[in-house]
Amino acid sequence: MKCVPVTSANGPLEVVEREKPTPGPGQIGINIEACGVCHSDVFVTSGGFEGLELPRVPGHEIAGRVDAVGEGVTAWRVGDRVGVGWHGGHCFKCDACRTGDFLNCAEAKITGISHDGGWADYVTVPWESAARIPEGLPAEDAGPLLCAGVTTYNSLRHSGARSGDTVAVLGVGGLGHLGVQYARQMGFHTVALSRGPGKELLAKELGAHRYIDTAANDAAEALQAIGGADVVLATAPNAKAISATFGGLKARGKLIVVGAAPDPLEIPAFDLLSGRTVAGWPSGSAIDSEATMQFSVLTGVRPRIEKFPLAQAGEALAKVLSNDVRFRAVLVP
Ligand SMILES: [Zn+2]
Ligand SMILES: [Zn+2]
Repeated sequence: MKCVPVTSANGPLEVVEREKPTPGPGQIGINIEACGVCHSDVFVTSGGFEGLELPRVPGHEIAGRVDAVGEGVTAWRVGDRVGVGWHGGHCFKCDACRTGDFLNCAEAKITGISHDGGWADYVTVPWESAARIPEGLPAEDAGPLLCAGVTTYNSLRHSGARSGDTVAVLGVGGLGHLGVQYARQMGFHTVALSRGPGKELLAKELGAHRYIDTAANDAAEALQAIGGADVVLATAPNAKAISATFGGLKARGKLIVVGAAPDPLEIPAFDLLSGRTVAGWPSGSAIDSEATMQFSVLTGVRPRIEKFPLAQAGEALAKVLSNDVRFRAVLVP
């Protein structure tokens, strides 16, 4: 098999040949057809993620076909189309798992961090981390839906917003360009926010009813001018930009953070007293990924992608980190 392992922090990223592993008990082997590149892959390439051991193959937007099935696995058969996202498996036994909250499992695994991921042409993963890819969804489109897609779709469907409510999506990048499409298709009054006028046309093509240029306007004032937002979905990993939207919420509105900003948010305590809340959302488990892909097929939501061969994994990640990808990079082995 071919793969691109991270062998040292910020070291070179090159294709190497390895012996193809056979899936152990509870695992499946996947022939990879595509794997998206995510901002979070830098947690692996920088070597900085807590508990990470190198060498490790990154990649948590895997799409392919089951190639082998380990002992005790009854849920999958060879040939099934499957995808694997960030959530890489769970124990089924801890208190969180017993309530069905697999994402917060005490022993939760992360694809491409706890075990090798999808910057490869083959991978073995715990069976419960795999989601069925529906007919009509190409592998290269399925990949980005397994992290960027499920994160935005799943957070919006759990946001409490109802049809006709105003949902503002901050950022029109890897996550945001999907968030705008989902918000529109879910029946929300959809407002896209981004810096500068450059993304306006695209945001409207993706389904935004309105566009707010946050370089030319105060985000909170502009949102209040149209009645305020019931939900702000913050996809841009920028604490200042996120904080600036909070005053644009209606009373009892909710700011949902899905972009991993490194700095603290600045929210005036007084502004919370109207019942506004700030929350995060942790992507989703395999069944959430299935729901994301099915909804995408049903409504025509698709990621906009740039394809790269496996040998250019390093270049692809560099383009993701410098925001030069329109809008999701996908490795095709
Ligand atoms: Zn990701
Ligand atoms: Zn558990």
